[in-house]
Amino acid sequence: MAFGWIDEQAELRRRAGLVRTLRPRPADSPLLDLASNDYLGLARHPEVTEGAARAARVWGGGSTGSRLVTGTTGLHAELERELAGFCGFEAALVFSSGYAANLAAVTALGPHGSLIVSDAGNHASLIDGCRLARGTTQVVAHADPDAVRKALHTHDGPAVAVSDTVFSVDGDAAPLAALAAACRERGAGLVADDAHGLGVLGAGGRGAAYAAGLAGAEDVVVTVTLSKSLGSQGGAVLGPARVIDHLVNAARTFIFDTGLAPAAAGAALAALRLLRREPERAERARAVAGELHARLTAAGHAAVRPDAAVVSVRAPSPESAVRWAADCRTAGLAVGCFRPPSVPDGVSRLRLTARADLSGDQIERAVRVIGETRP
Ligand code: PMP
Repeated sequence: MAFGWIDEQAELRRRAGLVRTLRPRPADSPLLDLASNDYLGLARHPEVTEGAARAARVWGGGSTGSRLVTGTTGLHAELERELAGFCGFEAALVFSSGYAANLAAVTALGPHGSLIVSDAGNHASLIDGCRLARGTTQVVAHADPDAVRKALHTHDGPAVAVSDTVFSVDGDAAPLAALAAACRERGAGLVADDAHGLGVLGAGGRGAAYAAGLAGAEDVVVTVTLSKSLGSQGGAVLGPARVIDHLVNAARTFIFDTGLAPAAAGAALAALRLLRREPERAERARAVAGELHARLTAAGHAAVRPDAAVVSVRAPSPESAVRWAADCRTAGLAVGCFRPPSVPDGVSRLRLTARADLSGDQIERAVRVIGETRP
């Protein structure tokens, strides 16, 4: 039977307790949300939703075509200009997702004959970029600039190192300045995925590269998502204008993909302007993460010290992690749950996101529920 092998895989997954299911979220969910990536609490901000609505009214429900044909509106150009300016880069290019932006950056900057050095803890979209790229990928130890340096020394010719700035599983930060220095020694480029850094790290949320003094560097390229701190949807690559021009001409997920929907561009632009006006939102997200971590640690949980807004708590097994998250939900708290194969090290975790708009009472309630439901 066609696809019969799927049933065998499903059975293995069932036995291992690793079945994933979709659960539609009600618009007016009563759950306390520590599961979403809405770090700054902007996804439902009236200025952001109005930015989306106005953009849809002016430009339509979709962008109507690929960016090089009809899919570039004035709104896309405005967003690219403001995003680049905010983060301190010469130019930016907006994509329909952060995933597509990562595929674009890695494939276009890792051509045939090049070496791509990739951190072992990188996000799936960077890993897939490495798989699609024509260059050769070498995976190196997590957050280890010396390992990057050694790998780069094995190669003559174009090379690039790729790394998350904040790792999505444990919320730890990459040693970005040291990575850039290792790359510079060999004339290699650095691609840094700042999905979890934009809006949280750096002055006023200008991101991890800005915080590390790398904004605008000629050998640094940053990718971001518009779907976390900016409460919208989409992604972008930021870097020197010559790199951005190269992506326009060479990146397949840019050339062959329909442009970002105007509503998403309008929402992201409104959120970016809000963040410029209210830079304290970034500090507040970091402070909430620190407070969550301190309270969880005091209560005896194995929580990883957060470098940004992601707080990770170890669970004894995949099954107990799933049960723990489900029990939290029953008690009114939404948390994320990471388990194999999403986590290559096999350690299952609860993943909590610190939102800038969480109150002290809500943080206390979250920690109490996590303690009461602990497996
Ligand atoms: N990079 C990282 C580190 C991420 O966590 C994510 C989102 N899960 C992405 C890239 C992909 O971004 P998007 O959701 O916009 O496709």
